Amino acid sequence: MTLGLIVISNREPYAPRKSESGDIQWVPSIGGLTAALDPALQHAGGTWIAWGEEHPHIGSVELPTERPRYRLERLKLSEAEVRDFYYGFSNRALWPMSHYFIGRARYLRSSWSAYQAVNRRFAQAAVQRYQEGDLIWVHDYQLALVPKMIREALPNARIGFFWHIPWPSSEVFRTLPWDREVLEGMLGADLIGMHTEDYVRHFRSGCAIALGAETTPQGVRHAGRLSRVVSRPIGIETEVFESIASSPEVEAASERIRQGLQTMMLLGVDRLDYTKGIPERLEAFDAFLDAYPDFKRQVTMVQVAVPSRERVESYRQLRVQVEGLVGRINGKHAESGWSPIHYIYRGLSREELIAHYRAADVMLVTPLRDGLNLVAKEFVASSRDGALILSKFAGASSEMPEAIHVNPYDHDGLAQQLMQAMRMPLDEKKARLHQLRSRLKQSNLRAWSENFLSELAAT
Ligand code: UDP
Repeated sequence: MTLGLIVISNREPYAPRKSESGDIQWVPSIGGLTAALDPALQHAGGTWIAWGEEHPHIGSVELPTERPRYRLERLKLSEAEVRDFYYGFSNRALWPMSHYFIGRARYLRSSWSAYQAVNRRFAQAAVQRYQEGDLIWVHDYQLALVPKMIREALPNARIGFFWHIPWPSSEVFRTLPWDREVLEGMLGADLIGMHTEDYVRHFRSGCAIALGAETTPQGVRHAGRLSRVVSRPIGIETEVFESIASSPEVEAASERIRQGLQTMMLLGVDRLDYTKGIPERLEAFDAFLDAYPDFKRQVTMVQVAVPSRERVESYRQLRVQVEGLVGRINGKHAESGWSPIHYIYRGLSREELIAHYRAADVMLVTPLRDGLNLVAKEFVASSRDGALILSKFAGASSEMPEAIHVNPYDHDGLAQQLMQAMRMPLDEKKARLHQLRSRLKQSNLRAWSENFLSELAAT
C-alpha cells in the first residue's frame, strides 16, 4: 500500500516563466501554501492539482525540475470558467459573504453552475490520480464541493479540507442560496481545518441549522459519517524571516528606508482588498494628525498596496478611493519637505518587504475581517523593536495577545492607540515582541502541514 499525497488547490505551487532563451522555468509561488506543502509533497511523492493559469497548454510537469519528486497536474480553465467560477462565485459570492460584506455579494445562478462544474473537474482529476492509501488534501473556498465529489467516487479515501478564510456566523452564511450544498460538499472530508475556534464554532452551528446535523465538540455527524472539525492556525517559517531580516543586505536596505524618511515610520502592507481596512486606517491617521499636530514632520505612514483582482469592479473602485484619500490627506497635512503618507502600489520582493518590516516603528494590521493575516506574523519574526497594532477581527489576534488590539471601525480609538504604540517604552516593545516571537516559533509552517497530515492519516 502506498502513502502518497494528493494536494488540490486553486493556485499552483510553481508558476511557469519564460526565460530570455525562451525556455520555461518553474518558479516557486510566494505564499504560505507552497512553503508548507511543497516539502510535504517532495517527501511523500504524489500529485498537486491546480489551475494552470499561465501557459495553460502545459498539462503537467514533474517538480522540482532539477530533482523531480512529484507531478503538478494543471487544469486548463476556459475564459468563461475563469470569469464565473473564479471571479464570479469564489470572489464575488463566497469571499464577500465569508468576510461579512453581504452587500457586495452577488449570488448568480450562472456563477454557481460554473463553480459546480469546475469543482467537479478538480475532483475527477484527483480520482484519476488516486491510488489505494493516498491522503487527499483539498484547499480553500474555491473548492468547497470537491471533498464530497471525491467521496462519491472513493468512499474509503482519507480526505482533508482546509478553509483558509473566515467562517461567518450562521445568520450571514444563510444568505447564500446554496448554503446546504456548500456544507455538504465540505462534509465529504474526514478532517476539516480552519484558523480559529470561533470559525469552527460558527461552522458547527451552521451545519446544525442548515442541515439539522448532529454536532459534537469533535465535529459534525451527517448522512452517517463523522467529519472532525478543528482549529489549526497556519504558521510561518519564522527562522527564515529572522535570518533574512538580520542579513547585512536587508539591514542596509532597512537603514536606507529610514534615512529616506527621517521620521518615525508607520507601516501598512496589504493586498488592495476591501476587507483589509485601508481607507479606515488612512482616516484614522488623518484623525491622529488632527488631534496631535505636533507630530507632523515626526511621523510618516508607508502604505504598500499590492494590486489584486483588478477584473472585479469593486476592487477597481477601492483603488480610486484609496488613492483619492492619500491625495486628500497629503494635501491637507503636508509641509515643504514632508508628506504624511508614502503610497506604494505594487508587490514587493520578499527582501524588500522584510526590509520594510525591519525599518518600521509601528506596524498597522487593521483588517475589517481577515481569515488569519500572515503579515502580522511576518512582522513579528522580522522586527527588531517595533510595535504591532492588530485588528481584533483578524484571525491571528487570538494567538497574539501581546499586540495592541484595535477596532478598525473606531477611527478616534485607533488614533489614540497609535499614540500609545508610538510612545511605548523600548523595554515594553521588546518584551512584547519577545513573547510574540516565542509563541510563533512553537507553531511553524512545516509543523502545521505535518500535524494536519498525521491527524488525517489517523482518521
Ligand atoms: N506579500 C508579498 N509582497 C508584498 C506584500 C505581501 O510577498 O509586497 C506577501 C506577504 O509576505 C504575505 C502575503 O503576501 O505572506 C499576504 O498574506 P496575508 O495572510 O497577510 O493576506 P492575504 O493576501 O492572503 O489576504
